Amino acid sequence: MNQRDLFLRHVGQTSGAPLSIEIVRAEGCTMWDASGKEYLDLIGGISVCNMGHRHPDVVAAAKHQIDAYLHVMVYGELIESPQVQYARAITDQLPASLDSVFYTNSGTEATEGAMKLAKRFTGKPKIVAFEQSYHGSTQGALSVMGSEYWRNAFRPLLPGIIHLTHGDLDALQMIDHETACVIAEPIQAERGVVTPSIEWMKKLRERCSAVGALLILDEIQTGMGRTGTLFAFEKTGIVPDILLVGKAFGAGMPLGGFIASREMMSALTHDPVLGHISTFGGHPVCCAAGLAGFRALLHSTTLQDVEKKSHLFKRLLHHPMIKEVRTAGLLMAIEFDSWDINKRIIDSCIEKGLFTDWFLFAQNCMRLAPPLTISEEEIQYACTTILKVCDNMRT
Ligand code: PMP
Repeated sequence: MNQRDLFLRHVGQTSGAPLSIEIVRAEGCTMWDASGKEYLDLIGGISVCNMGHRHPDVVAAAKHQIDAYLHVMVYGELIESPQVQYARAITDQLPASLDSVFYTNSGTEATEGAMKLAKRFTGKPKIVAFEQSYHGSTQGALSVMGSEYWRNAFRPLLPGIIHLTHGDLDALQMIDHETACVIAEPIQAERGVVTPSIEWMKKLRERCSAVGALLILDEIQTGMGRTGTLFAFEKTGIVPDILLVGKAFGAGMPLGGFIASREMMSALTHDPVLGHISTFGGHPVCCAAGLAGFRALLHSTTLQDVEKKSHLFKRLLHHPMIKEVRTAGLLMAIEFDSWDINKRIIDSCIEKGLFTDWFLFAQNCMRLAPPLTISEEEIQYACTTILKVCDNMRT
């Protein structure tokens, strides 16, 4: 059996039509497959590789940590320097109330931990979430996912959850004194990059504070510079009670976290003791790699350049087949008429060596979330190729 057949035969699958391209190497914004074909990566592992693939500082830090120790003890018992240093570095960049990081292995576990913390801290039962939101695939995170199609097959799920329309001011009245927390993305990524008004974000914050509900902002996809500021909430003037991080937080290694105040976080240490535990959360190699990626982001012009690069994409992507290009920094959606057209364009781009994808709740939109380090030449090349593919579709 060849490698593709073995993949399909022995590796658990997520759909009936995986891309099935065998990647053998990735560097910067480029990936190579087993036949030597080169791809310009326009999705960065779905907003993971913000500093590019195998950033030299990330690789060096991971190798250095591998030479010191791998796993030594369950999360939270021993002092592991990469965890300490990364927590200090990231909280230094956040509002003072977000000063304690609880490490997880993934985004969905950050969601789970934050929902538990909110229930434990407030003693309240209800959770408010939003339609067309995505917070992960485990059962708690699935319960707050904003899609009946994905929730329905896995019932029973968590009770006490309601879903409101993101961006709807009137709906905020449904957040009440029984509400432990509201979980929201500041920009709905899987809806095809939809940004609510700043007024709505402010009213959401006000309503949560008025009724004593914690506001959890999921920045797993929008964080770590993706939208042009370190976190998208910075542009809104509000501060969440709990911030979720993941994806680019590990710079290519599996790492997530929920960040809150030390006082709030301490609720997980008693009644019951060990209220939330994880064997591998905050793995030292992942924290060392993530910290190196974070430092590289802070000590370069990458973050400052995001808006300029986003504008370049937007300026170049004009075509009769493109209905709209929605951007939040380098998180971008190109909207076409239908899923069918979008899929054909994506397939054709991949064939031409441009690696792109679609969105869970916006299947007529092409996803663009390249490494933030993408060069202007690469952006020009990517846009020219997309426009050529669109031209070919019309003939
Ligand atoms: N929240 C958001 C906004 C996400 O985009 C994702 C992943 N796509 C998650 C949570 C879940 O993260 P993970 O896949 O690491 O569990």
